[in-house]
Amino acid sequence: MVTTTVTLFTPPPPTKATLPSFPLPKTHYTSSSSCSSTSRRFRVRAYSNTSKFGNFLHLKPAHQPEPLDFDLPWCHPSDRSRFDVIIIGSGPAGTRLAEQVSRYGIKVCCVDPDPLSMWPNNYGVWVDEFESIDLEDCLDKTWPMACVYINERKTKYLDRGYGRVSRKKLKQKLIEGCVSNGVKFHKGKVWQIQHQEFESTVLCDDGTELRGSLIIDASGFASTFVEYDKARNHGFQIAHGILAEVDDHPFDLDKMVLMDWRDSHMGNEPYLRANNSKFPTFLYAMPFSSNLIFLEETSLVSRPVLSYMEVKKRMVARLRHLGIRVNKILEDEKCLIPMGGPLPRIPQNVMAIGGTSGIVHPSTGYMVARTMAVAPCVATAIAECLGSTRMIRGKQLYAKIWNSMWPIESKLNRQFYSFGMETLLKLDLNGSRRFFDAFFDLKPYYWQGFLSSRLNLKELAWLSISLFGHASNRSRLDIVTKCPAPLAKMMGNIALEYIR
Ligand SMILES: Cc1cc2nc3c(=O)[nH]c(=O)nc-3n(C[C@H](O)[C@H](O)[C@H](O)COP(=O)(O)OP(=O)(O)OC[C@H]3O[C@@H](n4cnc5c(N)ncnc54)[C@H](O)[C@@H]3O)c2cc1C
Repeated sequence: MVTTTVTLFTPPPPTKATLPSFPLPKTHYTSSSSCSSTSRRFRVRAYSNTSKFGNFLHLKPAHQPEPLDFDLPWCHPSDRSRFDVIIIGSGPAGTRLAEQVSRYGIKVCCVDPDPLSMWPNNYGVWVDEFESIDLEDCLDKTWPMACVYINERKTKYLDRGYGRVSRKKLKQKLIEGCVSNGVKFHKGKVWQIQHQEFESTVLCDDGTELRGSLIIDASGFASTFVEYDKARNHGFQIAHGILAEVDDHPFDLDKMVLMDWRDSHMGNEPYLRANNSKFPTFLYAMPFSSNLIFLEETSLVSRPVLSYMEVKKRMVARLRHLGIRVNKILEDEKCLIPMGGPLPRIPQNVMAIGGTSGIVHPSTGYMVARTMAVAPCVATAIAECLGSTRMIRGKQLYAKIWNSMWPIESKLNRQFYSFGMETLLKLDLNGSRRFFDAFFDLKPYYWQGFLSSRLNLKELAWLSISLFGHASNRSRLDIVTKCPAPLAKMMGNIALEYIR
């Protein structure tokens, strides 16, 4: 039996646009008051230049992603018992966990304002990551290789397949799994969670109350349901992406461009070049055909976050220089990903997965493949507690589930990946080029393992030594002069994790 009680209670606060709960106070180059007269002059030039040369920024996306056409089993007010698990959010993380946990016969309800809407982001993953979890049929395009333009003279070719996730196929597959395992859906926005000793109640903006033994927050980066006991000193990845119809482009169709660090497009744009030298951005590109390409100008990580307008202006200059004329924008995306920072307090009575759980790779911003891979482990732990044979609830349940997501080894490894982010934050354009030049010279086991969060602490330590060995003298100097503080912080945090 399932309880879905529609009760009268104090109405939720008026709905307002959800503000990100992560700190976003400042950006580089947004404070005009601190702008020198020179940079103000450059800024004016930037606008006139971009409008003069075929700026694509005024183009509006021609398509909105279509929702899935599916008959969902909605949760009905006449259902009378409580759920085992209530999942807030049906993004990639929430839907995957619902599909996995319901395989064990656990009663799951997924709450989302629009459970059938198509996910808005374009997701890229390494093909082997999806193959290892049997999701390769959810890639709609793969490239046998990737490449990294270090500078105008040097390109690195990476012998590792890359794929674009078909949001439609992945969501369809996960939702089909949910439906056949008996997951119920509720259309609504959760605005509050109340906890009792062995169960919790979620309150939705339509007045619905849902009760469950375990509440899982999969509502993304802007969640306010998960608590932290340390200051959230994230770095931020920010990017502007477009899926565009173009006259032509210069990229090989059998390689995706993981990073293009070239900056020759800034030859005539000194106002952009100076900033880019300090806080660099690169181009990420997925060429689908000679006329269709996904292009994304990306700031890998910055703190405070780089201005979005700055990123867009750099993209306009780059495409103009590459001779890419955008005829039509099919989709666009603003990418803002908090990276690194502390994990949520562990344990706590709301469990988290996805963007709100600290699982984003602190050095790359990737998350989808890892979330797909970790969900089965979390689901097994939930089944051990709430399945038919065991009845572990309350504090014991929360501790077990949080530990399935963040066992001690994963917490220690994350310290290392966060150290990677702190190092990247200190690198300017040339430093970043030298770093990635050495990084992609490592044995594939190491660079691939690092990017896919597969290495253990010993291997990560070996990677660091090896990276130092491969680095140029300038790069070694960067490491020696810029890394001691983050290194000491990482060692301290690792020691603390051991003591706890
Ligand atoms: C533009 C962009 C591009 C990205 N590209 C990649 C990539 O290429 N590869 C990669 O690995 N990662 C990528 N990421 C990072 C990460 O994988 C995505 O952000 C991913 O969508 C996070 O998944 P999620 O399920 O945790 O959250 P989301 O996808 O944000 O889904 C959250 C869901 O919860 C719902 N929700 C929110 N609040 C409530 C509430 N109060 N009640 C009920 N429901 C609620 C939302 O409507 C939404 O459906 C990208 C991120 C962005 C922003």
